[in-house]
Amino acid sequence: MVGALDISITKSETSKLGTLDLANIPFGKYFTDHMLVADYENGEWKNVEIKPYQPITISPANAAMHYGQSIFEGIKAYRHENGEAYIFRPFDNFNRFNKSADRMQMPAVPEEIFIEGMRKLIELDKEWIPAKKDHSLYIRPFMFANDDVIGVKPSDKYKFMIILCPTGPYYAVPMKIYVEEHFVRAVPGGVGFAKAAGNYGSSMYPTNEAKKKGYDQVLWTDAVEHKYLQEFGMMNGFVIIGNTAITPNLDEGTILAGVTRDTVITILKDLGLTVEERPISIHEVVEAYQNGTLKEVFGTGTAATISMIKELCYKDNVMTFDTDSWTISPEVKKRLTDIREGRAADTHEWLYKV
Ligand SMILES: *Cc1c(COP(=O)(O)O)cnc(C)c1O
Repeated sequence: MVGALDISITKSETSKLGTLDLANIPFGKYFTDHMLVADYENGEWKNVEIKPYQPITISPANAAMHYGQSIFEGIKAYRHENGEAYIFRPFDNFNRFNKSADRMQMPAVPEEIFIEGMRKLIELDKEWIPAKKDHSLYIRPFMFANDDVIGVKPSDKYKFMIILCPTGPYYAVPMKIYVEEHFVRAVPGGVGFAKAAGNYGSSMYPTNEAKKKGYDQVLWTDAVEHKYLQEFGMMNGFVIIGNTAITPNLDEGTILAGVTRDTVITILKDLGLTVEERPISIHEVVEAYQNGTLKEVFGTGTAATISMIKELCYKDNVMTFDTDSWTISPEVKKRLTDIREGRAADTHEWLYKV
């Protein structure tokens, strides 16, 4: 019997792989040979297809472009020395994707499409992941409204897709951060916890203002008092004071529940640190800096894993850090990278075999 969610596969006749130097590839610019597409119509998912990577046709009245029902995910896969490929914690992204979908009044994507479709797609383009240190495959699942009607209402039709891009060694340069006290990213009751495209669009103006002041990113603070830390740009934030790592708690719905965040919490605990998920104010950070107990400040996310922060500017306080002397965040990054790339045992069962 042929099920509705059977995935049809059309292989590309040629591969672009030979034309690229994977060791020197810019992030997000080159895509693998295949992509996954599925349509949602009349209340059900259909036309699940893996086919050659190619442009798609969109109506000028496409509802996502006008009213913003558009969400995405970011995941990575790694190839181990034995040639096998593994996806890092895809079920966490799958669950988060459907939470984002729910908040944006979009349909849930079934596991057979999100996980099994991703697995099949990667299996097909496995050669695109070099079994080399610091190389991986970035996986971008996304869904957007696909009605061709101008009118503010949830769309009846949606498209779900997955595209893949190879990523080479990524050196995360320590960042300079400006503590933002005017613009906000997320408010309680808003969409901060969802990986909604619009969250990125709205962050660009404030980020550019910070860039004009000489900073790489903003530190978002709460919308009411501009006092409590939210995120560093589009990364979750950690502050290490003494032997305690502190990261903002998720309860208010203003923080994106990062998979890297959760992973780093586990590794920090493995390293013997105390981890606290709670509100942390910028005043507590400044005070710890002044009394010498502030050890490390960093952001976490799938793309860069860990980004150390070398400067934090809050009003007239410019806090600078000698990131070369840090020991905790480099150790966390090393442990995580070793697990992902197969050099250390996957004791927390984070890897999903392709
Ligand atoms: C994607 C994202 C993160 C990081 O999440 P990961 O699952 O660790 O990649 C953090 N903050 C925001 C706003 C994000 O969109």
